[in-house]
Parts: sequence; structure tokens; C-alpha cells
Amino acid sequence: MRYGLISDIHANLEALETVLSCLSKAKVDEIICLGDIIGYGPDPEKCIELVRENTLLTIAGNHDHALLGLIDTRFFNQFAKKSVEWTRVQLSESSIEYLHSLPLIDKRENFTLVHASPARPEAWSYILSVDDASDNFAYIQGVACFVGHSHVPIILEKNNDNKVSVKRNFELELDQDKQYIINIGSVGQPRDLDPRAAYAIFDSDSCEFELKRVRYDMSITQKKIIERGLPAYLAERLSSGQ
Ligand code: ZN
Repeated sequence: MRYGLISDIHANLEALETVLSCLSKAKVDEIICLGDIIGYGPDPEKCIELVRENTLLTIAGNHDHALLGLIDTRFFNQFAKKSVEWTRVQLSESSIEYLHSLPLIDKRENFTLVHASPARPEAWSYILSVDDASDNFAYIQGVACFVGHSHVPIILEKNNDNKVSVKRNFELELDQDKQYIINIGSVGQPRDLDPRAAYAIFDSDSCEFELKRVRYDMSITQKKIIERGLPAYLAERLSSGQ
């Protein structure tokens, strides 16, 4: 089965539409979303509708949980906090129910799916390095665990000697004798200094993985962020990809 993988959309409709159209052209069989559909961006309701229509499965992210009051936003930065409050009044009952229905983790075929970390999904910890990843491999089913959360793509590979290393190429055939934790980057708010929307394609039969980037018309998103009274910084950061 060929899967399209998306994460951290953050209510960026233009980025989401562009990525979905790429995945449709790529003729993937199913699409899976790793959470944070909302927060920061100007189109939360429309993004939830599109994700519901187009995905086989969506995992809950910390912003989705913050909106539902399931996590304390005291530790959110001021921009995240403001956008959660703004988003709460934009959503329909049906969308809120949908967010409530999302699981924290899922394991299927030969891979695991989680927003933050497989060891403790509800702790929302970041996997940014070899050290962060090491303890997490024990909680993975199959050859790979796909994650989001940091908005920074990374591939961490554990070899047969339990040594973990960072892979530098984002197009590879996963070795079934090894295990991988792969951050697929963010559709709607990339933070690796590349402002293009990120998404991935994974073939669960051949184990081929590819991270892709695509330009979208962010000027529309940026205009809407300002018009809807969200912090201007949330528009600016889209241009620099951070
Ligand atoms: Zn996020």
C-alpha cells in the first residue's frame, strides 16, 4: 500500500490544498495525518473538513488537544496561546467532536504513527536528536515510526547493534533489519528554514520512503492571518520557514 503522510497543517488551507493535490497526482492509496490540524493558521474549520474527507486516519496533536482543554496552555508561547483561543470560537460542534475522536497513537502493517513520541505520546516531548530518539525505539511496531511535532524533518536510524544515527538523505529504501524514527516535517508551518510545505510518501510493501517539498501561495495565507487579527509574526514566519 502507498501512503501519503502529512502532519502539522496548522490551519494553513493553501498549503494543505497544494499537498493534497500532489498526493492525488502521486496516486497514493491512502492518506494519514499525524496531527496538529489547527493552531496558528487562519482556516481551522476548512482544514478539519478537508482532513476528515481525505484521510484514512488522523492522530491527535498537542494543538488539537489544547483546543479541547485536554492540556494546559500555560506552557504555550503567547502566539500559540492566542491562536488556540481564536480557533476555539471558529470551530463547529462537529469538528470539535471529530478532534475528540482522534487517537494518540496507532500501529498498523509495518509502521507506527504518533504526533510527538511513541514512548509517551501524551507527554508531547520532541525527538530532535539521536539522544532523544534512543529510548523510543522500544515502543515502535514495525520498521518505522512516523512523527511530526517539531516541524523539522529528520530520519533517525537504529542499526543491528542498537546504534542510532541521523540519515542525511530524505529518499531511501528502509532496511527491514533496522528501525527508523522519521519526522515528516510540517505542511503548514515548516521550521527548517525551507518555507515549502512538507509531506511524505511511504510504500509499506517496498519500504520506499520519500520526503517531498512543494511551494504554495503563502501570500494568501499571510493576508488572511493579518485580516483575521492573528499575530503578524505568524504570517512572517511562513516566509522564512521558522
Ligand atoms: Zn505542530
